[in-house]
Amino acid sequence: MSKKLYIQTLGCAMNERDSEHIIAELEEKENYSLTDNPKEADLILINTCSVREKPEKKLFSEIGQYSKIKKQDAKIGICGCTASHLGDKILKRSKNVNFVLGARNVSKISQIIHKDRVAWVDIDYDDSSYVFSQKQNSNLKGMINISIGCDKKCTYCIVPHTRGNEISIPSDLILNEAKRLVDNGTKEILLLGQNVNNYGRRFSTEHKKINFTQLLHEISQIEGLERIRFTSPHPLHMDDEFITEFATNRKICKAIHMPLQSGSTAILQKMKRGYSKEWFLNRVEKMRSLMPNLSIGTDIIVGFPTESEADFLDTLDVLEKVRFDTLYSFIYSSRPHTEAASWCEDENFKGLVDEEIAKERLAILKDRHKAILQEDNAKLLHQIHSVLLESYDEENKLLEGRSDNNKLIRIHSLDNLVGKILPVRICKINGAQLMGEFI
Ligand code: SF4
Repeated sequence: MSKKLYIQTLGCAMNERDSEHIIAELEEKENYSLTDNPKEADLILINTCSVREKPEKKLFSEIGQYSKIKKQDAKIGICGCTASHLGDKILKRSKNVNFVLGARNVSKISQIIHKDRVAWVDIDYDDSSYVFSQKQNSNLKGMINISIGCDKKCTYCIVPHTRGNEISIPSDLILNEAKRLVDNGTKEILLLGQNVNNYGRRFSTEHKKINFTQLLHEISQIEGLERIRFTSPHPLHMDDEFITEFATNRKICKAIHMPLQSGSTAILQKMKRGYSKEWFLNRVEKMRSLMPNLSIGTDIIVGFPTESEADFLDTLDVLEKVRFDTLYSFIYSSRPHTEAASWCEDENFKGLVDEEIAKERLAILKDRHKAILQEDNAKLLHQIHSVLLESYDEENKLLEGRSDNNKLIRIHSLDNLVGKILPVRICKINGAQLMGEFI
């Protein structure tokens, strides 16, 4: 009989993909099958995120909760970025944790589950560390890591510490994985990397040197593949060559996540983002001129140390000009091993932003974004989009899918048409919900 695995995944798409790798390794090599009930699991894994402080703080209370309800012999393992950053401190703090596996050590999951009270969090640059058994949650959509780690060292970000230096995965491995997915029915591939468009900067050994634009082009030649998405690109690396390929290659979905972080050039410099407000707006303008329906999402941090009212107004100004389709916004939270944390620890540092002011800025930003979305959503009425139908609610006879530019659209249908890509006219808008009809 197979053993049961319960896995909780926090954080970004990279973590989701890591969880898929973990599940595939354990299913194939260790005869595990997934359960959504931690009480019946033989192994409970928490795949953690450490980008913000809150989920990290919650980790130990979650370990406590699982310890209370788990089967007597069940093991608990902690994986992901918090595992990388806290390492064996997790073992010291919680006697109930059997092992800790860092974000760059996921391929060792089938070895570590047989150990007890160990932490493997070293960062290696061996190609074998990203060759895994395969598993995808959905056949229609597949994810492929094209690079791991990050060289950027933005002053607020813990990721370079947890995921190590940036390494590009050889393009032949990526293309083989993409072909394998398409042969198994995948229509849409999401390419993943911390700085996805910096692809090709460094390989661990000698490999064919190609850049992100060339990689996109090569993947798009795969017969049967309908759509390509990617996340997250860095605004700094959005050169004209990339924008032209993005705009003209019909397989590349016209949606992009473009992390702004701040609209103030002064703050961007302090964050070491490498671009200015003007560069960001120029790239948006160039893309929108070639792709009028392009959907743009972003991340914004408010209350970064030294952020003044004028800096915040610059952020609002970019919001007004770009009118982002999605916004993930947060109050700055100090993370260990970062440059900004070292400023904040200095008692003579005068740049901390008052918490109430930061909360107020966040509320203003979110409110304005909500209003922009309402205004822009209204313009979608009667537009026609090509929609990949992803799920069907049999009871309510409701199909759900995403347009090329990543809008979630629901369509009443007596037939289950999951897997098809069909033209849909938006016929009703209910707040953020878009209803469509086939044409
Ligand atoms: S680019 Fe900056 S924010 Fe993104 S992962 Fe690298 S250091 Fe972190």
